[in-house]
Amino acid sequence: MLRSIGRVMLVAGGLHTCSALADPGDTAPCPMSPSIHEIPIIEGRMAIGLYNPPANRSGIDIRVPITFHVIRRSDGTGGPIESEIELALDSANSLWSESGIQFCKPGATIEHLSDELYNNTDTLSEVNELRSMDQVPDTINVYFVNNLRIEIGSICGISSFTTSAVQGIAVDNGCLPHTGNPSTFAHELAHYFDLYHTHEPAFGDECTDGLNCDIAGDLVCDTPADPNVRGEVSPGDCVWNGNDQPDCGEGPYTPPVRNVMSYSPSTCRDELTPMQTGRALATLINLRPELVANACDPCPNIADVNGDNALTPADFTAWIDAFNTQSPSADQNGDGVITPTDFTAWITNFNAGCLG
Ligand SMILES: [Zn+2]
Repeated sequence: MLRSIGRVMLVAGGLHTCSALADPGDTAPCPMSPSIHEIPIIEGRMAIGLYNPPANRSGIDIRVPITFHVIRRSDGTGGPIESEIELALDSANSLWSESGIQFCKPGATIEHLSDELYNNTDTLSEVNELRSMDQVPDTINVYFVNNLRIEIGSICGISSFTTSAVQGIAVDNGCLPHTGNPSTFAHELAHYFDLYHTHEPAFGDECTDGLNCDIAGDLVCDTPADPNVRGEVSPGDCVWNGNDQPDCGEGPYTPPVRNVMSYSPSTCRDELTPMQTGRALATLINLRPELVANACDPCPNIADVNGDNALTPADFTAWIDAFNTQSPSADQNGDGVITPTDFTAWITNFNAGCLG
């Protein structure tokens, strides 16, 4: 049985603490709102277009590097195993597909062996201290924790806006995909790129007619006005059963119960909208450029014969062409000559998939 975990924020030096969903049937609160100190910074950036989605998306994903840290007991036990970390990465990438952003794991998982950190990470300062351990620069540092708690209780995760004092993400092990929560990690990653909850109140309530959608709510216009659906969506059918009445606009609420940034049950959340991912991409490019500069090689695989940074059947056609023209890219087994055995090598390379 999954734990019911609260979702909280502390405002301490501009830091926000946010947990996500532990129990699919009980979305806990996460007032991870921009502080009054951050709002003018954000609005200033909006005024000069820093959050505007890039006009020309290349179609090639930027592969953002993540450094995973796992807290284990002093004897090395506890915490997710490598396949569970890979599952978390794959699940996040699935929810972020078609965003232009994918996440990768260029380095080995960093293990921190400490009974104290494993059992007693229970204040905000301890969580922040934990998130500062062995940070690998120019990557998103993510810490998987056994018992993620702060002063007000257990939380599922904590993330950072670009405006946050402490950078890094921590997620409770009990909120990872292998425990049945497919969306919290992706949700925390979204905060890292300055996406807010779909019901975000800091900029004012979004009206149901959407007329103020660019300056209120989550500042994103293709996410409908959301009154905060916590506890009002059944995990079985993901239908909203609330009766909140809008303060402005016309018509009733039609909250985005499938949105990753909503408070819908974690198992209902499988959607990020084009404008959300556009904002995230703009944040990545304009405000976290070090992650772009340090991006994983999209597809360091010589089976990518046409060089589009993806492995597709088109690479087979490209290999044929390269073979016929005796182009060096046809030499898939690296023996310096181009022979039919390179076709077998191409298949082997292709099946190895993208690296990095
Ligand atoms: Zn959140």
